[in-house]
Amino acid sequence: MLDIEERGGKVTLGLVNGGLVEADKAVLAIGNLPPHDHPAIAGAGLTPWRYVGDPWASPLAEGLRPHQAVLVVGTGLTAIDVILRLTSNGFGGRIVAMSRRGLRPHRHVDGLAPVRPVLAKPAPELSELVRWARQEAKASDWRLAVDSIRPITQMMWASADAEKRARFLRHLRPFWDVHRHRLAPEVADRIEGLIRSRQLVFRAGKIEDVVSEPESVAVHWRPRGEEERQRLDVARIINCTGPQGDLLRASDPLVRRLLKQGLIRPDALRLGLDIDRDGHIVGQTGRPSEHILAIGPMTRGDLWEVVAVPDIRTQVAALARRLVNAHWTGGEGL
Ligand SMILES: Cc1cc2nc3c(=O)[nH]c(=O)nc-3n(C[C@H](O)[C@H](O)[C@H](O)COP(=O)(O)OP(=O)(O)OC[C@H]3O[C@@H](n4cnc5c(N)ncnc54)[C@H](O)[C@@H]3O)c2cc1C
Repeated sequence: MLDIEERGGKVTLGLVNGGLVEADKAVLAIGNLPPHDHPAIAGAGLTPWRYVGDPWASPLAEGLRPHQAVLVVGTGLTAIDVILRLTSNGFGGRIVAMSRRGLRPHRHVDGLAPVRPVLAKPAPELSELVRWARQEAKASDWRLAVDSIRPITQMMWASADAEKRARFLRHLRPFWDVHRHRLAPEVADRIEGLIRSRQLVFRAGKIEDVVSEPESVAVHWRPRGEEERQRLDVARIINCTGPQGDLLRASDPLVRRLLKQGLIRPDALRLGLDIDRDGHIVGQTGRPSEHILAIGPMTRGDLWEVVAVPDIRTQVAALARRLVNAHWTGGEGL
């Protein structure tokens, strides 16, 4: 789909093949936008052979030789997936995974006690919630503590103002992510095996400059907390900075078109689409659309915890109830 227009109380969807579809409502469920390019890498003029900007859209290990090295930018779940894909596709060379803090997702453990969901706000502020979770973690297991607050994270996010949300993203998000989005034990075993065999290393630091050389790419980076730059030579760089939601940097044709028409605008923190409390997209005039709604990770500015499938499922069920007016009747018929 390339386009949506609101006309005469209806929406008209413009398809790639030139066809048009008319509907009473449209729901944008476009998933995540691909990662943005790292500024130092974007300016280096690397060929697609040397730089994979979207790890989901390209082969990763093709043409790499065993003595070569690969730099994976980002150390979250996307990086983990990419490392597994590289090694299961036969790449035996060195892999360096780098991010500002070098934090990677923690291991999940099976067989823990059942999670006791917290249903009321245990702390007034997002930052205090993290402190509360730390104390709970000491009393049981940090995984149980993190999972127990899942039912109220959307509520905590909703009650925080833009400044508190921004502070959470700046200081706590990386720590939240590695505790919240964990590795299955088998995956953690494989990653630890690669680290032990020295094929994989995680590094904390900042990429400052990238230079294309005839046989490789020279990456100049500064380890976290150090002054001196280091040089790393790799055959390929793979962008694993994770899915993004900043509409203003998006190249997606539908998103660009809707922006141009003024039908959508970024949320205050540029995490995705601005929506109202009922899920209608909010346009550049600040007025919510009557006919176009959005769900999924692009609504994380409003809900925060809406990336994993169970949370999206709840959001979809609530939207479906509203669309058929079942919320007035208690949901009969759904
Ligand atoms: C590395 C990684 C690991 C993850 N692991 C987990 C996990 O273990 N558990 C979990 O619950 N979640 C996980 N997630 C998150 C989860 O996969 C996503 O948040 C979820 O798939 C989003 O669902 P969605 O339906 O909103 O979007 P998607 O599943 O991305 O689907 C969007 C669809 O919209 C289509 N589309 C986009 N634009 C257009 C257009 N203009 N016209 C027509 N179609 C369009 C796309 O082609 C796609 O089919 C992970 C995510 C990542 C990146």
